[in-house]
This record gives sequence, structure tokens and C-alpha cells, in this order.
Amino acid sequence: MKLILLGPPGAGKGTQATRLVEKFGIPQLSTGDMLRAAVKAGTAVGLKAKAVMESGGLVSDEIVIGIIKDRIKEADAAKGFILDGFPRTVAQAEALTKLLADEKMKLDAVVELKVDEKALMARIENRARETVAAGGTVRADDNPESFKIRLDAYREQTAPVSAYYAGIGELKTVDGMAPIDEVTKAINRALAG
Ligand code: ADP
Repeated sequence: MKLILLGPPGAGKGTQATRLVEKFGIPQLSTGDMLRAAVKAGTAVGLKAKAVMESGGLVSDEIVIGIIKDRIKEADAAKGFILDGFPRTVAQAEALTKLLADEKMKLDAVVELKVDEKALMARIENRARETVAAGGTVRADDNPESFKIRLDAYREQTAPVSAYYAGIGELKTVDGMAPIDEVTKAINRALAG
């Protein structure tokens, strides 16, 4: 199963990806997680990405395409993977189409979680509160200023990615405002149909 999850920040992609990982026994490839790990480890990629990530902007296509190109060739991705947070621009989507063709891989589905933008800020504030309550550290970009920039980046650069997949007849849309279990069921139905 090779799957892309699309949707704005706070749409619940991570939550649903975790469930799909269990169901299909395939890894979740989150470019956000990979970039945060690179920042933490202080690698060359991390040093380049840190400031733009914290502000809420997008890291360059070249960097994330490079990361994904290497990652999908690793052994644990042989049976499939869930892409979460990639592609985030049409250029990334086009690069992915080419990458998959070169590797003789085929996507099974692109699932978009549709959410009401007004609910997103509340979700992010909630995520920050829960993280603090659990003794964790809130992400450097989970603050109102960066979140607004992330939403703008989504609207301007990532929403066209849905149109790209709709255009090639691969997009399935699920209501991301439903309760978590309902969203999971809707995704499973979309994958079955
Ligand atoms: P969110 O919770 O907003 O979906 P992620 O954890 O996926 O965020 O990503 C956090 C940040 O990492 C993004 O705001 C961006 O700076 C960077 N990033 C992640 N994936 C990509 C990508 N595919 N292209 C460019 N930047 C990315």
C-alpha cells in the first residue's frame, strides 16, 4: 500500500497515519518528523531547515525531495509507505511522480482530509496544551504566529497539490471534522473503493 495523506496543519494526518501504520504494517514517512530529527541532530540539512521551519515557512523542494528519494528506497518501505507532509508543493508532487516511475512503484491512493480552517487553530492550541501536560516540549512552530504562516503556506502552495491529484483522477476526499474513529473508517472505505 503506497499512500499519500493530504490536508492542512492540524487536520489529523499524523493521528490517522499512526493507525494506518498498524493496519498495513508499513512505515509512516513524515517529512516534518524527518526534518525535525535533522534539526535536532544538527546535520547540514537540519542547519538549512531550522529557521524556515520555526517561522512556519516551507523548506526548499530540493531538500525534501532529496530526503524522500533516499527514504523510499530503504528496506522497510519495500511493501509500501504512508507519505505524511509530502508532497507539499506541485513541484514536489511532480518530482514524486517521476521518482515513483523511475523506481517502478505505483501509488495506491491519495487521501485528503478536509477540515474547517476555523477549527485548526483550536486544535493546535489543544495539541500544545496536551504536550505540556504530558511533560513534553511544544514544537517551535506550534505558536499562533508560525501557525498562521503554515496555514498561508498550505493555502498557497499545498492546496494546489490536491488539484494536481484530482486532475489525474487519484484524489479521494474524507471529512476530517468527524470524530477520529469515523475519519479512520472513512479512510478505510476510501482505500477499499
Ligand atoms: P504540520 O503539523 O503543519 O503538518 P509537519 O510536521 O508536516 O507540519 O512539518 C513541519 C514543518 O516542516 C513545515 O512547516 C515545513 O517548514 C517543514 N516541512 C515538512 N514537510 C515539508 C515539505 N514536504 N516541503 C517543505 N517543507 C516541509
